[in-house]
Amino acid sequence: MSYRCAKCGKEIENIEDGMVRCQSCGHRILYKKRDPIAKTIKVD
Ligand SMILES: [Zn+2]
Repeated sequence: MSYRCAKCGKEIENIEDGMVRCQSCGHRILYKKRDPIAKTIKVD
């Protein structure tokens, strides 16, 4: 799971529990980054 800092936009990986903090600017709000997987649903 990777995250993105809400302030500076830096991508962060491998966050330890209880240590949610941007490694670049120190901001403590990070967004979870979802994998851009497009699911294909077949409808016949
Ligand atoms: Zn940041």
